[in-house]
Amino acid sequence: MNEVDLVLVGGGGAGSLLLAALDRHDVRGLRIAVVDPVRKRGQDRTWAFWGRPDADLDPMLSASWQRVEVTTSAGRRLLDLAPLRYAMVRSAPVYERAAEAERRLGVTRIDAPVGALDDDGATVTVRDDDGRTLLRAGWVLDSRPRPPRRPGRTSWLQHFRGWWLESATPVFDPGRAVLMDFRTPQPARGVSFGYVLPVSDRYALVEYTEFSPELLGDAGYDAGLRGYADLLGLDLAALTVREVENGVIPMTDAPFDGRPSPRVVRLGTAGGATRPSTGFTFAAMHRQADEVARALAAGRAPVPRPAYPRRHLWMDAVALRALDRGAVGGPEFFDRLFDRNPAERVLRFLDGATSPAEDLAVMRSSPLLSMTSAVLGDAAGRLRARLRPAPGDLRG
Ligand SMILES: Cc1cc2nc3c(=O)[nH]c(=O)nc-3n(C[C@H](O)[C@H](O)[C@H](O)COP(=O)(O)OP(=O)(O)OC[C@H]3O[C@@H](n4cnc5c(N)ncnc54)[C@H](O)[C@@H]3O)c2cc1C
Repeated sequence: MNEVDLVLVGGGGAGSLLLAALDRHDVRGLRIAVVDPVRKRGQDRTWAFWGRPDADLDPMLSASWQRVEVTTSAGRRLLDLAPLRYAMVRSAPVYERAAEAERRLGVTRIDAPVGALDDDGATVTVRDDDGRTLLRAGWVLDSRPRPPRRPGRTSWLQHFRGWWLESATPVFDPGRAVLMDFRTPQPARGVSFGYVLPVSDRYALVEYTEFSPELLGDAGYDAGLRGYADLLGLDLAALTVREVENGVIPMTDAPFDGRPSPRVVRLGTAGGATRPSTGFTFAAMHRQADEVARALAAGRAPVPRPAYPRRHLWMDAVALRALDRGAVGGPEFFDRLFDRNPAERVLRFLDGATSPAEDLAVMRSSPLLSMTSAVLGDAAGRLRARLRPAPGDLRG
């Protein structure tokens, strides 16, 4: 079969959530293909996210917490998230559910990398890396990692290493997760923090994370993790590292194209589902998968709303710029957000789900003055760039 209705290019996080959603919404009668050189299975990442309890996701969760901690050197804040909860899902059950959905939907699988997508407005020709036609499709949902449409003004990375730690005796509190702990030594440019996601009193994921322009070497992440374990009072000699998890997520105000051509829709990180100020992606991917599946079930075009409102992306650009310029400290920024707003509002804001009035409250509670000067710096930079004569103009 080389004519299909729908092709998923990429079957990672976004592709897997979409397959599950198509099955859940009983989208039948469509010819669907998945093209990805890799068949995702097993444990390659752990997703943490928040939201209301959810009949679809909850059976797959490894753990969830009603209360989380945000800690700075000034003290520890215990946040009650009701009616939301913070949750952890490991990749294995997500990929398994997608594989099950694939069977039930009768999906065609092609294990190859996709190269070009040629969209003539009515049909998309899906080609391999050598330009050979793999398929023709009515719609393509593309979640291959892609660079943004153009570089951002601020391009940071969220990069981290986590250890799944096992203890013979109870050392973790499964009743609460640590969302962000800023007591870690702060890098010269950027923000660092640790966090703890306990699944029991003897087993937890402990991570060291940086938001900054440059990656660390292996030794840097290990030193960060050892230092954070010390801060937690954990005796590493008495613990076993069961698994190691590394990751890099873009944090940038660069624009990601949600719809590069009429019949190609981008999903996942490539489609702008990664929130620039936090790197969180999972909730937006899940939401967009649901929207696409609902649209197809109703016979509509599979085009979700943008992952985040434009005004939130603007606010994130300002925050990233202020952090990058050192106009505001990372711990101070997040601490003030949680100090002056109900936790539930901050989390809904970070998911792109707050109203303009709530956004204003969030904006007022952040270190507004320094951020505003970062915005003015931005505007001045843009103006200077526009007024600066191009090299050719000088010759004339
Ligand atoms: C280790 C790690 C932990 C993370 N933890 C969290 C978290 O806790 N919370 C959160 O919200 N976000 C988290 N993220 C961010 C985000 O949720 C994930 O990166 C998520 O997997 C993004 O989904 P995706 O579909 O965009 O990309 P991916 O899951 O990377 O999937 C992309 C797919 O495209 C395929 N592909 C690549 N090239 C081609 C090609 N040429 N043709 C066809 N297919 C191709 C790949 O094989 C892959 O299957 C994490 C990321 C990482 C790396």
